[in-house]
Amino acid sequence: MHDRRNQSRRRIGWLVGAAVVLALQGPSVALGDHGGRELGSFSTCNRPVIPPRCTSVGNNLRHYVAFDASLTDPLRDAMRSAMEHVYEPTRLVMIEQAALSPLTDVIAFSADYGENGAAGWVFCPSDAPRGRSSLGHRWCLGQELHLNLNPRYGLFFDDDASRRHVACHELGHTLGLRHWGNPPETDPPVGETCMQANTPNGPTGIHQTDIDHINAYPSYVRQPPRGVELAQLPGSEPTAAARTGMITGANQVYAPASLA
Ligand SMILES: [Zn+2]
Repeated sequence: MHDRRNQSRRRIGWLVGAAVVLALQGPSVALGDHGGRELGSFSTCNRPVIPPRCTSVGNNLRHYVAFDASLTDPLRDAMRSAMEHVYEPTRLVMIEQAALSPLTDVIAFSADYGENGAAGWVFCPSDAPRGRSSLGHRWCLGQELHLNLNPRYGLFFDDDASRRHVACHELGHTLGLRHWGNPPETDPPVGETCMQANTPNGPTGIHQTDIDHINAYPSYVRQPPRGVELAQLPGSEPTAAARTGMITGANQVYAPASLA
């Protein structure tokens, strides 16, 4: 019995150490409150923590994700899958970019960052354009999304489903999605969502509650721009050109969210 408990403790300790994004990121919530939290930015971005990290919301419903050259092919596939199958079904339009533009919301990198305690994290650099949403949350253009290929975190990247889980999780943070449950994830119950903390090989999608939070967030609700009748707006489907990051004229016409 003792041996088994000790093994269990060691395993939990390892998982916490290998947190997708760190347990300390979430604020303390009442024990037993395991529901999905509403969107929001979290923590200042200049804390002396390793790796530097902070969670921001997006600034509107078009989420431009640039794939840095460092991103491996399997991780590109995982990111595309999460963008298409997890976040496109929300009100968001996810747009892959092969190069940065002034519209870039997220830059995705992968590298061996060493054993820094995280398999993945997001961060808003100090020189990134940023503002506040109407709800007071920080939005950030050029958020960095980092995936750590250090062998220590191999469990998070060793197959398609694992990579899709991590991609879903970190992309969620770039939109302001927060962790479910009280880390560690051993406190049941937890929702079927990639936004659980510390769950390598966890779910590859988000919970309906997460979807509802995205769709209800003021900056992410599609609205006609002033002076333009709704009937004149083009369809909402992203075009092939938009997917490569090109501006496609009228398809870019959306409310400018809550630029601060
Ligand atoms: Zn996280």
